[in-house]
Amino acid sequence: MRRKLVVANWKMHGSLAQNQQLLDSFKAHLANLKHVDVAICVPYPYLQQAQSTLSGTPIAWGAQNVGKYPVGAYTGEVAASMLKDFGATYVILGHSERSTAYCESAENVAAKFVTAKNAGLTPVLCVGETLQEREAGVMEHVVSEQLDPIIALHGAGIFKNAVISYEPIWAIGTGLSATPEQAQSMHEFIREKIARLDPEAAMSVRIIYGGSVNPLNASKLAAMQDIDGGLIGRCSLNADEFEQICFAAENAAIKH
Ligand code: PEP
Repeated sequence: MRRKLVVANWKMHGSLAQNQQLLDSFKAHLANLKHVDVAICVPYPYLQQAQSTLSGTPIAWGAQNVGKYPVGAYTGEVAASMLKDFGATYVILGHSERSTAYCESAENVAAKFVTAKNAGLTPVLCVGETLQEREAGVMEHVVSEQLDPIIALHGAGIFKNAVISYEPIWAIGTGLSATPEQAQSMHEFIREKIARLDPEAAMSVRIIYGGSVNPLNASKLAAMQDIDGGLIGRCSLNADEFEQICFAAENAAIKH
């Protein structure tokens, strides 16, 4: 059975002082979760702070991007091995804020995915459609095309033990979450697509949902069959809200 996973995406927020308050609270309140993995994805400069605060706890940490090459003359990039140096285990890839603001292509994300996996990091691959694409009914086609470059590069087996986050773009930071049924339907579609190519990878890949998850909607989302947890933006910057979401996932896991 897949363990639930809740990932915090702090985006470009935080300071040493603010982070410390959040991390200390997570450490105090989330260390005893039995059925949920928790990971905090911080801006690069705060990896060391996450490492020194969270080492020795079950809470993992990670980054929000990685360079696609292992090493070399790539000014401004950060290698997967550098994330590993700071104890990171997760890395968010392909977030729509990066594809929109930095024109990141699905092919680029695919290369980063393979680099991260080869380095022993767990990639959290973001996929999702725009509102226009959903209204046009092509959301599955769009998400499928976001997965294809990775499959073409390395086969569907690369999704074994990886994480895919379904993040409808219209739901990110808008307060308008997908319904549990809408999210479940897409998660099932993604799992079935991978299962046709590699059933073992489909069983192990954790497909989490991101997009305006909050303490009020977290339980119903986490209760769905193919929703293995959440990627949390805004509410991960509020200790109480993030912790409530983690406990909602814990309770859903107990009921499953
Ligand atoms: C995100 O940015 O990955 C996200 C899900 O943000 P929010 O929870 O704020 O919608």
